[in-house]
Amino acid sequence: MHAIGIDIGGTRTKIGLVNLRTGQVEEMLIAPTETKDGPRFLQLIGEAISQINAKTKAAQLPLAGVGIGVPGFVFENGVVDSTYGFLDFMEDYPLARYIGQQHGLPCLLDNDARVVALGEAIYGQGNGAGRVLVLTLGTGLGLGFTINGKLDGPLPFAHMGGHMTITNNDTLCYCGKTGCLESLVSSTGLIQIANRNGWPLTYPDLPLTAETIFNQKKAGNPDAALIVQEYIGYLKTGIDNYVNLYAPDVIVLGGGIAKGLRNETGRLHNPALLNPFKAYKTRIAISSLEEQAGILGSAALFM
Ligand SMILES: [Zn+2]
Repeated sequence: MHAIGIDIGGTRTKIGLVNLRTGQVEEMLIAPTETKDGPRFLQLIGEAISQINAKTKAAQLPLAGVGIGVPGFVFENGVVDSTYGFLDFMEDYPLARYIGQQHGLPCLLDNDARVVALGEAIYGQGNGAGRVLVLTLGTGLGLGFTINGKLDGPLPFAHMGGHMTITNNDTLCYCGKTGCLESLVSSTGLIQIANRNGWPLTYPDLPLTAETIFNQKKAGNPDAALIVQEYIGYLKTGIDNYVNLYAPDVIVLGGGIAKGLRNETGRLHNPALLNPFKAYKTRIAISSLEEQAGILGSAALFM
């Protein structure tokens, strides 16, 4: 069985045809994420779905439906509640019903971080593990949790763990609180740490990006190492708390920042976790699905 998975990103939306049995993305189309022009965006997504749908019909491939990962809150009935203003036109919009009627296919929606977790749990580093916690470290911190390959409920709040308060400092998060883990371990958080450490003054010729800082750290730059160390301290505090809440068998780190953490997982792991329960073991893994996790997970809503 095949399904179409759609991953709505900050600037690009990926529409893919997924073989649910093998986890292969057999075709992928990219459309710009039109944040201000709703009708245009729905038209672009619709054209991509039609194109893939026509091919599967010609090849006589049964298509289970269209799954979409939405950046924000989604009700179980397929209505988008809030996207924090990112996609205003989608808010209170019955997106699943609209897409379903337009293409004559079932359509399922869920939060984008949750579908990434589903993708990792079924096709990625969480495959075969019982309890899988997936943290997507990018422009924000996305959280999704699965048990035996199924997302936990209830919607629409189950992905909000990134807003766990971990410091009493006044770093303001877009959610309106201060001291959220998300505001410290997102790429914006890393850049704020770099700013506080005077990075732009010391290295005016280097671009101020998460990638540069991780690359500089790898190249032996001691200032970059200090910034990464502070960043890892926040992330480790968050992971320690998540372990006590979720007791995951595996913690998968994905998103743009995760690549930079490839050699740092040892520093994120605390052997005293869940003390004194000696039988508990967890491991931290970096996503192997990378950019495809969202497409695979959206499609996997039909498994
Ligand atoms: Zn927050």
